[in-house]
Amino acid sequence: MRFDIVTIFPAMVEPAVKAGVVGRAIERGTLQVKVRDLRDYTTDRHRVVDDVAYGGGPGMVMKPEPFFRALDAIEAESAGRPMVLLTSPQGTRLTQPMVERLSGHGHLVLLCGRYEGVDERVRSRVDEEVSVGDYVLSGGELAALIVVDAVARLVPGVVGDEQSVAEDSFSRGLLDYPHYTRPAELPGAAAGLKVPDVLLSGNHAEIRRWRKREALVRTWTRRPELLATAVLDDDELKWLRELRAQRNTEVGG
Ligand code: SAM
Repeated sequence: MRFDIVTIFPAMVEPAVKAGVVGRAIERGTLQVKVRDLRDYTTDRHRVVDDVAYGGGPGMVMKPEPFFRALDAIEAESAGRPMVLLTSPQGTRLTQPMVERLSGHGHLVLLCGRYEGVDERVRSRVDEEVSVGDYVLSGGELAALIVVDAVARLVPGVVGDEQSVAEDSFSRGLLDYPHYTRPAELPGAAAGLKVPDVLLSGNHAEIRRWRKREALVRTWTRRPELLATAVLDDDELKWLRELRAQRNTEVGG
């Protein structure tokens, strides 16, 4: 899969994509990530990418032509038509189903805004606007990195253990179960913090069942609204009925 990230701060993006699973997937050739400096697509001596807003007001607006030239260059180099995403707090809020949908495209282009944002006409070349949450960042670089990281995890071969991706939070509409590692017992003040016995039992059927129930309980406790759309099996439906009954008893009593 290929990503192109268009930014005025390549130095902010380049080191980030070289780290961790994304960096290793780039080294292996499973992913291609090209970070493009928007200023390379200007034509003036000062490589200007912003200008004052028509109608006045505070802040600068990113000029449209450098984005158009960058997109022309990317499309000229691309075998098919890439999907163009504009990072924007006004876009569709990123969710795991959206990440899954984006991972089905072979080539994503991410445009990073700065200042007051990009000239509205850039949207004529954009397939979708993506927001990473209801807050305002100074620029689209962190948002683009979030999209690349979340989408890349779903590309086969990027994360070593695909089972772990399948069990991640949101993959099945539920949060992930709790994880523990060695040592089984901690010294000093943390001595009371035990690893649940079942995880030390070696009984894999029981461990699977415990994890399944913990994932459900976690979701019920932290993000109950997710349960409205999660696809639950018979065990999970039974546990959910028990949790509801327990709550009703507590509320009633
Ligand atoms: N004036 C814009 C508004 O209120 O909608 C905000 C511009 S923001 C300061 C500059 C750039 O940061 C945006 O063009 C976008 O690329 C990026 N950005 C800010 N918040 C974002 C978010 N929540 N999700 C994705 N991108 C964001």
